[in-house]
Amino acid sequence: MEFLRLLVECDRVDYIRVDSNGSTVDRLAGELWSPKIHLMCTFHPSQVTLDKFLERVDVTQQAGMLDMVNFVAVPRGYNKSEIDRLVRAFAERGIFMNVAYDFFQPGEYRLADMRHLLSLRTRRDAEFTLKCETLGEVCAAGVSYVEIELDGSVRRCRQTRTLGNLFEHVDLLGQAEPCTFPTCNCIERYTQLLSWRGAGDRHLTQYVSRNREHRRGLPETDWTAELGDGSIQQIVKPPLSVRAQALELKVPLSKLRRRAVRKAAKVARGVAGRGGKTTR
Ligand code: SF4
Repeated sequence: MEFLRLLVECDRVDYIRVDSNGSTVDRLAGELWSPKIHLMCTFHPSQVTLDKFLERVDVTQQAGMLDMVNFVAVPRGYNKSEIDRLVRAFAERGIFMNVAYDFFQPGEYRLADMRHLLSLRTRRDAEFTLKCETLGEVCAAGVSYVEIELDGSVRRCRQTRTLGNLFEHVDLLGQAEPCTFPTCNCIERYTQLLSWRGAGDRHLTQYVSRNREHRRGLPETDWTAELGDGSIQQIVKPPLSVRAQALELKVPLSKLRRRAVRKAAKVARGVAGRGGKTTR
């Protein structure tokens, strides 16, 4: 709470995203109301009843601090009608409920369930979230974003090496660099990949806004309706590791990495040409 208070009081900070399980957000709204704070509260039905959760998030919704509620729909026991009921229950209170897939087992969903899950968001968001082929994409993580662990270790993002320790010394990157991973499981990609930078600022608010609009247009906006099962499977299929890609393409790993760096340089030139920044 004290750290948040410092951020709220800092003139250079105008947007603070807070991800929470919702357990103390009503207190937060009472003690530290600020239009800078944007909440994303995840609903865990195994830990809290819907009524109790709603009671807490309603307070933040009325305070104008809640951007969205999140719900992770795991593949086992996926229940379409129950998910639709939850989406409606929140929507009736003016709350957008995001239905997230399980990062760790995207391939485990039945096809019909995955189709339903995908249909609840725009195609660009769905493909970006699931495939997210980031190898060679220029990413500003390590420059304008870092991940700080409990022991003070600072990383570019959760997938990368440490840049030092907060209590000793940290070497931030000098500029945005190509991502060296085939895919990104970090939520930060929305804000740090230069190809998404336009949507990066106030990214949570913008995500909710475009996907709320998308859902309003359903079933007409259901882009999955035109796709055969094979295409859905392609979207869900995770990108191959760099090594596997090299084997499949029958090129040396080093060549693939050089290719990624060239691709990144091209993206960076394009962004610079459009007047984009690499840091903020
Ligand atoms: S795209 Fe994701 S994995 Fe790659 S460097 Fe950026 S945050 Fe890390």
